[in-house]
Amino acid sequence: MNFEAITKETIMRNPQKNMAERRLPSEIRIDPLTGRTARVCHFMELKWKKPDFDAWVKGTQSWCPFCPDKVMTLTPCFPGDLVPEGRLQRDDMVIFPNIAPYDSISAVATFGARHFIPMTAFTSERIAAALDFALEFFRRVARSSHSESVYHMIHWNYMPPSGSTVLHPHLQVFSSSTAPNLMRRELVDSRRYQEKNGTIFWDDLVAAERKADDRYLAKIGRTHFLSAYAPMGVVGDVLAVVEDVRCTLQLSEDDLMDIAAGIVSLLGEYDKMGLYSFNMGFFTGTPADDHFRFHLRLSPRTFFSQQLGTPDVGAMQYLLNESVCLAYPETINASLKKGFTPM
Ligand SMILES: [Zn+2]
Repeated sequence: MNFEAITKETIMRNPQKNMAERRLPSEIRIDPLTGRTARVCHFMELKWKKPDFDAWVKGTQSWCPFCPDKVMTLTPCFPGDLVPEGRLQRDDMVIFPNIAPYDSISAVATFGARHFIPMTAFTSERIAAALDFALEFFRRVARSSHSESVYHMIHWNYMPPSGSTVLHPHLQVFSSSTAPNLMRRELVDSRRYQEKNGTIFWDDLVAAERKADDRYLAKIGRTHFLSAYAPMGVVGDVLAVVEDVRCTLQLSEDDLMDIAAGIVSLLGEYDKMGLYSFNMGFFTGTPADDHFRFHLRLSPRTFFSQQLGTPDVGAMQYLLNESVCLAYPETINASLKKGFTPM
């Protein structure tokens, strides 16, 4: 496994300190699978201020389409050949079509009746139940032999900085025959890696990170949690790689509990940094993709300036597709490790 980086240095002089010279390091990291580059630069303390959630939430319940008094009247229903009963319901969770669909099969799954759940109030049981419920929907899609039943993906945008427009906690649930950019690239490059090396990239990555330990977090069941070498987000990303699993529908109930337990540990540590928003996304192959391993990526979202509401994405990331991380992933990993008890 080749963890390559190009190190750089910026020199500047400080007029307030008699033109004393300062040297600022930065690094361009190359993702060992895709070759995508990520910058580790403008280092800052990973501390943010949480807003007044009560003020933020106040009043949003009255128009929230996912709240129990409105969800069964305001949200649309699936066509009869997919979900004859219109919407899927389990306990207080509901799955219905996304009114702003990303693809032909594009749904929303609520986490339940509760309008607002603080990040640290999510239990692993609640997260696992929501994921399991989404998998029930995917099985319906698969049984219907729908042409989009190829890649089954779950995205979680938690709180507005992550792109969420509804506070009521929910998941984006969709099936598509078109793999999104990065997933498609990972699928192609994983196949190429296997053809070249005769081994599976994801197994080799987990083995290398476990040995080095400075980016590895924990193994829960057969799920490995580790910090990404070349992260997408400003506070780094965590990958959860599931051994022997190629695609979403191969995840067992135990896997979902293990994944959820790891997510809860992560959210607890992010909360201590003052973070309160994140993106989570599934990366899945098909059952035939023996070169691939199911994994998810979780990345906190925040602001470059909280005071001005400046998002954590500028031209570098948005237009040039070059990610920026504000600390070494190994430093962030050391903080996250506190949330994981040795297994
Ligand atoms: Zn609500």
